[in-house]
Amino acid sequence: MQVKEFKVKWGMVVDLDKCTGCGACMVACQAENNIAPVTEGSNKLRTLTWMLVYELSNGKDFPEHDIAYLPRPCMQCGKPSCSTVCPVVATTKDEEGGIVSQIYPRCIGCRYCMAACPYHARYFNWFDPVWPEGMDKTLNISTSVRPRGVVEKCTFCHHRFAAAKEKARMEGRDPMHLEEEDYIPACVEVCPTGAIVFGDLNNPEHKVAKLAKSRYAFRLLERLGTDPQVYYMSKREWVRRQGDNYLENEKTKGE
Ligand code: SF4
Ligand code: SF4
Repeated sequence: MQVKEFKVKWGMVVDLDKCTGCGACMVACQAENNIAPVTEGSNKLRTLTWMLVYELSNGKDFPEHDIAYLPRPCMQCGKPSCSTVCPVVATTKDEEGGIVSQIYPRCIGCRYCMAACPYHARYFNWFDPVWPEGMDKTLNISTSVRPRGVVEKCTFCHHRFAAAKEKARMEGRDPMHLEEEDYIPACVEVCPTGAIVFGDLNNPEHKVAKLAKSRYAFRLLERLGTDPQVYYMSKREWVRRQGDNYLENEKTKGE
């Protein structure tokens, strides 16, 4: 499958040496995108975590022991295996920003996309969402609430992209040439250590464009050829090795 190149390609670079695993990105994502809280978080049928922080370990004993945290949103793949399998075109790649969309009213809940996504970034609504009394008043009016029976996933806070484009138009600016500060997803905004940098990978003035080319940058399961728009970086070789599932005898990038 050819990667379709778009003028604007929104992407992230997550510095795993800065991430402390605090989980603020997960909470901000839940609140921003109207993801209902669950009473039993270990129930894998119920949990929906568009942003999920994984813990990695080098597997060594003290004092060589080391850990890292890896936040995992949707990778907004350049070649999204989720969208090619959808029988009703309920998920497509947005040509204005390279973001993989989910069209909830069109989804028939077959879950082919979940099976096809190698990053486990998609979630099925087994139940209608329920908010504790009073909490429904905090729902975000910019984001829809999804019903039982459809699949959902991280959208890079696409509603914020739409609002940024609209604001640029109102101010007479080019909506296809946004500044970094015009469009910032909730997880990026809230991260206390600045571990997540967001911007247009095709715009050399945006920090992500430079960071993605770092010798320490890598992508998850890069060799599957999905061309993710989410990059990671770490100066620790064992972290890069786990991120892209290197074999024992292979050299990682950055070595
Ligand atoms: S679950 Fe919905 S989005 Fe996924 S493949 Fe089926 S119809 Fe398409
Ligand atoms: S990470 Fe998964 S859900 Fe996201 S675009 Fe890639 S294949 Fe689709």
